[in-house]
Amino acid sequence: MTVESPANQEHLETVSVESPGGPRGEDAASLRADILDKLTYYVGKSTITASDRDWFVATALAVRDRVVDRWIASTRATYENNAKRVYYLSLEFLIGRLLFDNLNNLELTETVREALQGLDVDLDRLRKVEPDAALGNGGLGRLAACFMESMATLSIPAYGYGIRYDHGLFRQAVKNGWQQEYPEDWLSFGNPWEFERPEVVYDIGFGGSVEAVATSEALVKHVWHPAETVEAVAYDTTIVGWHGRHVNTLRLWSARATDPLILEAFNRGDHVGAFAARMKTESISKILYPSDETPEGQELRLRQEYFFAAASLRDLLRRHLKAYGDVRTLPDKVAIQLNDTHPCIAIVELMRILVDTHELPWEEAWDIVQRTFSYTNHTLLPEALESWPIPLMERLLPRHVQIIYLINALHLDAARRVNPDGSFLSSVSVIDEQAGRRVRMGHLAFMASHHVNGVSALHTDLMKKTVFRDFHTLWPGKIVNKTNGVTFRRWLYQANPGLTKLLVEAIGPKVLDHPELLTELSQFSGDAAFQDKFAAVKRANKVALGKIIREQLGVAVDPDALFDIQIKRIHEYKRQLLNILETIALYDAIRAQPMRDWTPRVKVFAGKAAASYHQAKLIIKLINDVAKVVNSDPTVRNKLKVVFLPNYNVSLAESIIPAADLSEQISTAGMEASGTGNMKLALNGALTIGTLDGANVEIREHVGPENIFIFGLTAEEVEARRREGIDGRGAIAASPQLSEVVDAVESGVFSPGENNRFHNLINALRHHDYFLVTADFDSYYATQRKAGSMWRDKAAWWRSSILNVANMGWFSSDRSIAEYAEEIWNVPVKPAG
Ligand SMILES: *Cc1c(COP(=O)(O)O)cnc(C)c1O
Repeated sequence: MTVESPANQEHLETVSVESPGGPRGEDAASLRADILDKLTYYVGKSTITASDRDWFVATALAVRDRVVDRWIASTRATYENNAKRVYYLSLEFLIGRLLFDNLNNLELTETVREALQGLDVDLDRLRKVEPDAALGNGGLGRLAACFMESMATLSIPAYGYGIRYDHGLFRQAVKNGWQQEYPEDWLSFGNPWEFERPEVVYDIGFGGSVEAVATSEALVKHVWHPAETVEAVAYDTTIVGWHGRHVNTLRLWSARATDPLILEAFNRGDHVGAFAARMKTESISKILYPSDETPEGQELRLRQEYFFAAASLRDLLRRHLKAYGDVRTLPDKVAIQLNDTHPCIAIVELMRILVDTHELPWEEAWDIVQRTFSYTNHTLLPEALESWPIPLMERLLPRHVQIIYLINALHLDAARRVNPDGSFLSSVSVIDEQAGRRVRMGHLAFMASHHVNGVSALHTDLMKKTVFRDFHTLWPGKIVNKTNGVTFRRWLYQANPGLTKLLVEAIGPKVLDHPELLTELSQFSGDAAFQDKFAAVKRANKVALGKIIREQLGVAVDPDALFDIQIKRIHEYKRQLLNILETIALYDAIRAQPMRDWTPRVKVFAGKAAASYHQAKLIIKLINDVAKVVNSDPTVRNKLKVVFLPNYNVSLAESIIPAADLSEQISTAGMEASGTGNMKLALNGALTIGTLDGANVEIREHVGPENIFIFGLTAEEVEARRREGIDGRGAIAASPQLSEVVDAVESGVFSPGENNRFHNLINALRHHDYFLVTADFDSYYATQRKAGSMWRDKAAWWRSSILNVANMGWFSSDRSIAEYAEEIWNVPVKPAG
């Protein structure tokens, strides 16, 4: 179900600026009347027949009405002030649920709760029936969602552009310990938050040929004649900033076949064939690629990228030309941020439009491009750096390949003047000549952008030394750092109302607008009475998570045990394997000395593996197999439990994070660009056990080295170690504990009857331990024991935990966005509150 818009706000010609019109129906009675009205006249149900889902839809629509006036006012103000707009292009937006996001930011949660109570409906029940909008894989998509919220909070006129996938990230079930993927169907009951814009449609071309038309003696104009066209249809979702002060638009594109049916085939009686062509066209917006950090050589993926980049550009250029009438002022009024290289074909598309359609001279067009785009790099992993085979690109985007060649030729001419060395030139070329000819999207993004940013201090530093070393010498100063952040509205105020209440009591409500004031909490860190209150909040959150664990897995956990949590995509570099091996070592140690005074622990894992990533799926199986053995062993009953919660997503994260005591951030140093899970967990009072990787480095600087457990090789040591070789046998032999663990896994202790089940994992550890699990094992095990003994000193633990919360204010995505606004986009911000 899509709800029609009351009016397309973009077409309003009004001149007066009004405040959002003040609170409209902010008392419970009028909200209740509105909800009933929606239930009756929109959903078409009575209070007797309404299901929770019907109530959810009715409530969402009533809330949405309260957003629209503010939305129209925000958009109108941007037009009237001729303000510069920011466009955030991302193939992923991992949004999650929106009901509490909107209620919280409009400060209507309690009013709506009361309104529903009068109807005998429980708001918390409705919260759970909303499906997650999972239009992203993990950190990159979640960052885009946090940034959208912060841009609205800081009153930046910003648009998110992406794809409205019919099916978001797959649903994960765990059957017999193995991950199984099921299609996700978030739209099956309709989406009350979105506005379909049937009038905002663009034809997007693919394939065909390029015609060179002589326009005069010396000039040739290129005309692309695509063989196929697909319609991009806009769907808008409002993004409400804190206090409801400003509302932005997330515009997602859906693909529609231009001709509903190929009439000719249909008339011939080939109904199936006619529908097949349509299905193929519309498949562009059918599914999100379930790949996080592996390349997708799929044609469909390139189609998705061009489809959404081209539609977004057409849309923003239409808006710009309507307001200013001149493409040459684009860089003054528009900043386009590329979230990774996925949208970076937009660079070439803008060149095409400027040169071929607007007939600007090449140099002028390139100058406009370079002053408009900026690019965020998210990974240094070579296998995750996007590149497209030239033959595929030529087939889908023939004119774009010509333009890329010309961009590259001019770029190489300039580079040659700096350094004529052949290997330098091939290293900075856009075309990779090594494994078949391919277009390197990262290189294109780098040269076309005025700024290129990394997402943590360490990552940015490594970018300069590795992937973009040569580019950095060509354009020193282009690379800047913008350490990621997370929105506190979702990850603290909504997810952890108990802690939020305590913070407001201790510091005052101003802390909600100014997270830097969290530092005032430090004065209470050693206060026994405050510690008690703080610990009580954590305990209540752990009881709530315990209930979920029992419901999902039938395992009882003790809320007074240390909750040791690793939740994130399953990936070898994130090293869930290190964690489960340490769990086995602990299990062995407890069984060897059951009477020792062990710190009771609950190990919680959650995360999805890409469907084709066999090693990652095997790690999930190992975790589940270990859980089965450990949880049914009476010797360790009150000391160790292991749980794998299926289907990790934003909503599950919101339940787990407030209950965490220990946050596992244990990637091989140099491999996690930033991490944002690390920030959410520390903000909620979890102590981090982690390597000096990504933003862990900055978390340590903020919370202080005595309030974080750092272990393992540094990024530099990792590099040196890898040069020596990555055979793990030496490290295994040197560690009696690790040897015992490896033997246990290998001999089938966790896979009775199938002792070679984990052969691939063990074999990699022995002979090809690229992620250096064996090298870091002992240091990790020892650091875990340090954490375990600190847990028993409750005063010391809560002091550290409080100091974590107190010093995490800097990791608000409001801070990240304020930095982007000032140093990259050149737009003003209005601080929250
Ligand atoms: C924050 C978040 C992530 C990113 O987690 P990392 O630990 O930084 O990899 C991934 N998925 C979801 C659902 C998240 O909320």
